Amino acid sequence: MSAYVYDLSQGNKDLKDLLGGKGANLAEMHNMGIPVPPTFTITTEACREYLTTGSEPASLAAEIDEHVTSLEQAAGKKLGDAQDPLLLSVRSGAKFSMPGMMETVLNIGLNDASVEGLAAQSDNPRFAYDSYRRLLQMFGKTVLDLDGDLFEDVLDEAKLSRGVASDTDLDVNDFKAIVARFKGIIAEQTGRDFPQDPREQLLAAVRAVFNSWNSERAILYRKRENIPAELGTAVNVCTMVFGNLGSKSGTGVAFTRDPASGAQGVYGDYLENAQGEDVVAGIRNTIPLLDLETIDKAAYDELMSIMSTLETHYKDLCDIEFTVQEGKLWMLQTRVGKRTAAAAFVIACQLIDEGIIDEAEALRRVDGDMLAQLMFPRFDPTAPKTKIAKGMNASPGAATGRMVFDSHEAVDLSVNGHKVILVRRETNPDDLGGMIAAQGILTSRGGKTSHAAVVARGMGKTCVCGAEELDIDVKNRTMKLPDGRMMRAGDIVSIDGTTGEVFEGEVPVVAPPVVQYFEGTLSEEEVAADDLVRSVARIMAAADKFRRLGVRANADNAEDSARARRFGASGVGLCRTEHMFLGTRRSLVERLILADTPDGRTAALEALLPLQRGDFIEIFEAMDGLPVTVRLLDPPLHEFLPDITEITARVAVAEKVGGGASEEDKTLLAAVERLHEQNPMLGLRGVRLGLSIKGLFTMQARAICEAAAERIKAGGDPRPEIMVPLVGDYHELQIMKDAIRRVEREVSEETGVDLTQIPVGTMIELPRAALTAGEIAESAEFFSFGTNDLTQTTWGFSRDDVEAEFFSNYLERGIFKVSPFESLDVDGVGRLVKIAAEEGRKARPELHLGVCGEHGGDPASVHFFDKVGLDYVSCSPFRVPVARLEAGRAAV
Ligand code: ADP
Ligand code: MG
Ligand code: MG
Repeated sequence: MSAYVYDLSQGNKDLKDLLGGKGANLAEMHNMGIPVPPTFTITTEACREYLTTGSEPASLAAEIDEHVTSLEQAAGKKLGDAQDPLLLSVRSGAKFSMPGMMETVLNIGLNDASVEGLAAQSDNPRFAYDSYRRLLQMFGKTVLDLDGDLFEDVLDEAKLSRGVASDTDLDVNDFKAIVARFKGIIAEQTGRDFPQDPREQLLAAVRAVFNSWNSERAILYRKRENIPAELGTAVNVCTMVFGNLGSKSGTGVAFTRDPASGAQGVYGDYLENAQGEDVVAGIRNTIPLLDLETIDKAAYDELMSIMSTLETHYKDLCDIEFTVQEGKLWMLQTRVGKRTAAAAFVIACQLIDEGIIDEAEALRRVDGDMLAQLMFPRFDPTAPKTKIAKGMNASPGAATGRMVFDSHEAVDLSVNGHKVILVRRETNPDDLGGMIAAQGILTSRGGKTSHAAVVARGMGKTCVCGAEELDIDVKNRTMKLPDGRMMRAGDIVSIDGTTGEVFEGEVPVVAPPVVQYFEGTLSEEEVAADDLVRSVARIMAAADKFRRLGVRANADNAEDSARARRFGASGVGLCRTEHMFLGTRRSLVERLILADTPDGRTAALEALLPLQRGDFIEIFEAMDGLPVTVRLLDPPLHEFLPDITEITARVAVAEKVGGGASEEDKTLLAAVERLHEQNPMLGLRGVRLGLSIKGLFTMQARAICEAAAERIKAGGDPRPEIMVPLVGDYHELQIMKDAIRRVEREVSEETGVDLTQIPVGTMIELPRAALTAGEIAESAEFFSFGTNDLTQTTWGFSRDDVEAEFFSNYLERGIFKVSPFESLDVDGVGRLVKIAAEEGRKARPELHLGVCGEHGGDPASVHFFDKVGLDYVSCSPFRVPVARLEAGRAAV
């Protein structure tokens, strides 16, 4: 018989699959000798069985009974005992942390009789009735699925009629009355009394936690965080300890370092005389954890020592939940804590310095997405702005949008393309949809450990919380400013999650310090003085040291090339020449296309040649000493001509009214009609174009050679590589290569500079090219995988047409986990890459292999390209640091 229930001594931190993160880490702490209330954990396996069959495993109830007996023995109390009852909490806990997404029920075991016993035992009847009403409330909401407001309203009423602001000001008689009303609500709403049998309470709570795996918000959260839906949650049944026994008791959450900035030193919130989620819920204002030192020095010291033990043990920032019961400290949870992108870099470097981890491990602790976040723009510090408040910098970033006070409205507006800021007194798990939809979140209550802060940080979403000067009225959709003015739903607000500042209206943005560092505009002193920048620099150096994969950039002009170089690119992997044919040069291309005599064509080409040469000279200069892969003209020619409907209409109108269309327009129309294609993506483009329009590709080759010759004469070191696009058969490349070689020889002779060593290679972007790569490599001196086109042609759908149409449907149904244009489809397109790389190298061992196309800057794809042994990836200049980092991560 398989065991569905584990006690603490049977678990450890590596059993998260089975025991969930919370259960595994409670066991780990217990085994380290840290005080954890006696607990047992029901496995995720039991949950999975419950969710698939609709009922729990047959043996589960008996196993639970057996383990309850152990808890009873440890506590010297009995569940349901009328004199001295054992109380339990029933807590969810999945493999991956899903903060606040599932359910927890506290104080299981209280009923009309045992509440009296608890009151007598603790000599504190107020506490007993407060605990009972919490059970009724959580049980009602979670297990019986009642509207939480039914209970909240009663509490609010009680406070109002007693003229007090806080729960702590209610006395035992208030709570007795509240208990009676809560029981009434349950009976009325469900037609049944609240179950007095603790065993029934316990089993019902366990099932409720199982069910909460499939709550709407849990499903939404998993989707967003890519957590598999089939894992299920474990259930921890934990002996209750009480933070609500009076002022010598309390409960708190803490981080071993600041999860927002990474700064050293513990960080946390504490609430005296409180239980459970009072801290995270943001309903009462917490005090800083440091103040616990003056309240209860012994408990504080023990907490500090446990936190440092945990950090050393987990070798990382930990977050914890704890309770002090009349001076005795209990740990209720720990895990390696979520943190902002900035904190991740800073902490990884601190841990290297502290000798806790090495550089390779530090690289594993950060990723390209985090780095990309640090490169997002910031509010311009010099721009004039109206600051209206300052709250806590809970999750960094600069966000501007219309204020919305309601999650549904946030979702609706954002679906319609509006940028919104979700403004709430505090958030709760039901706000998840709105938080995802919003640019940022602003709250007036709660600290850095409040729900809004924790969830926003986990999602990398900008958040300012606890801006207490703002009086947020959700019902009336208004926000009263400290100076008495009102802002309303729809007004624009800007929030700075890095500083905690809140501004009225829109604030312009500038490059953040990390980008300034990559740009090279920060001095050494400035880098040293900024924890984050210094850490990023250090991690990047480590990545560069470890990585095997080169990183180049896609750049079509000198400016982008120069930036790419500053950002650490070791060359240009894709220089698209069609971009050089736009603007004023368009008419020259038009002339080339319309030329009906060889002389006319030559004249058009001759006019283009010096312009192209000029472009290349600038790029080669910016990339002096580094390779520049120039792709010959790729797009279909008609892209350079006017739109067919436009020119048809113009000619038709001229024929009808004026004295007929001009000769010019008629020729143009004929050309447009001649070149019109149903399927231009699959039409006359790339090498096909080069083979059809005589002299076009050789003109480009000549421009490249002449530019190189000129740079060499000027003392430069140009390293061009000529790349032929859209090859499907080796003949195409062979013919083109012969022609290019001829040009190389000619220009060498004309200029007296040897240009015959310029490599000629091809893009691999058609399945046929990948499958015949061995033959193609006979002439190709390098391959560059054009994974955008290769994805289109492998799947048979065009990127420009499909994304809006059926992609979201495919994503929803799980046909794609992520768009294959965003992250390489490893099984299909990746297989072609692998085949082509292997067969190409077999034919030509020194064949140089790279990737251009969006995937070159995508973290997951970079790891794949490293694995299949490519030499470099090429991506947009701004993604270069991300690719460098991921290439380093791929190597460790
Ligand atoms: P979540 O996963 O949402 O953090 P938890 O299971 O950690 O939910 O429970 C929420 C809170 O309830 C805890 O932070 C703790 O304060 C309180 N709690 C849970 N179990 C106990 C217990 N056995 N004794 C005292 N408080 C508890
Ligand atoms: Mg918790
Ligand atoms: Mg292409």
